[in-house]
Amino acid sequence: MSFATLWESLLPIGRDGLSGGYRRFSWTPEDAACRAWFTRSAAERDLRVLTDNNGNLWAWWDPPGWPGPGAPGGAKAVVTGSHLDSVPDGGAFDGPLGVVSAFAAVDLLRERGCLPVRPLGIAAFSEEEGGRFGVACLGSRLLAGAIEPGRARALADAAGVTLAEAMAAAGHDPDGIGPDDDLLAAVGAYVELHVEQGRALADLGAAVAIGEQIWPHGRWRLDFTGRPDHAGTATLADRRDPMLPFAAAVLAARQAAAAHGARATIGKVTAEPGAVNAVSARVSAWLDARGPDERTLQTVVGEVLAAAREAAAGHGVELAAGPESVTPAVVFDQDLRERLASSLAEQGIPAPLLPTGAGHDAGVLAARVPTAMLFVRNPTGVSHSPAEHAESADCAAGVRALATVLEDLACR
Ligand SMILES: [Zn+2]
Repeated sequence: MSFATLWESLLPIGRDGLSGGYRRFSWTPEDAACRAWFTRSAAERDLRVLTDNNGNLWAWWDPPGWPGPGAPGGAKAVVTGSHLDSVPDGGAFDGPLGVVSAFAAVDLLRERGCLPVRPLGIAAFSEEEGGRFGVACLGSRLLAGAIEPGRARALADAAGVTLAEAMAAAGHDPDGIGPDDDLLAAVGAYVELHVEQGRALADLGAAVAIGEQIWPHGRWRLDFTGRPDHAGTATLADRRDPMLPFAAAVLAARQAAAAHGARATIGKVTAEPGAVNAVSARVSAWLDARGPDERTLQTVVGEVLAAAREAAAGHGVELAAGPESVTPAVVFDQDLRERLASSLAEQGIPAPLLPTGAGHDAGVLAARVPTAMLFVRNPTGVSHSPAEHAESADCAAGVRALATVLEDLACR
């Protein structure tokens, strides 16, 4: 089956008719449809499907005569994949490109007559974007023991539904979530293919790149508490308006990022009670910050929080601020990276090395398993938006590159 057929079978799920963007949030009906698509695609290829305790999906191509999962002396698996969930109104490629390319690469390996000598797995990790419960890479974090299960169960979505409730409603037992050391110990390498979320490859004139490192990054929550008041009668001098220090924080984020060659974004904000004709009681904002190294990241966040604190004090507003999740820099496994580079070079596939400011499940898993990434060119670099794109020829190049890497890692 071709990449295009697979791609088009997934495309309608969770697409918003108005924005053209995707709303595939974990443990919703759209998520269930994506899971059914995964299971169907695996079944069409005679792959063995299982859902792990944390709701991550796995499709296994077992080598002939393989003794079965967990058997003593069994070879460690090679796993590829990505995620199927989206940010609100996200693009079609972020996540799904890696999963679709994984199935297409299996097809290509079979066309080439390759048989794995160790298990080859395709994974789709749950809630990678944190689009519903606010913590990015939740499925892989749980698997790797990078988040405490009790804390994860209590995470709530915008409607106040907890992860535990959402999982249970979708038929998945939330009591079983948490680290799965046996599963991770069975994985010898993880290679994630992902659409590039910048435009470096477009400038380099290459279709595919090998990931070098992921910038350290994190999310900080800022709660500004002031005093609700009448927009017409409260004098300016008497106001304690939380919107003003919030605005200072937005500007400080931009300035600090520009000053230090980093990224800082406030892309989510809520105002309570949210009346047009009233001074807000409270403004909550989320700062997303990323930098080329940890010191730069801390400097940027420190400057934003200092500016927010100073502005809050100046307006008689209280500020509570702290991290929601922070992920250190990830440098991908050098041996694996070099092996990818040499197998691609052998096939005449040019693949420069690329750092990225975007977080991935591969970044979380890198703490436990040798991990590598492949990026596929995005002509405009736009991502987390309906305008996110990759050309068909580049998607095909990505599948070829992934199949080449998997053949080297799993079939020899
Ligand atoms: Zn992604």
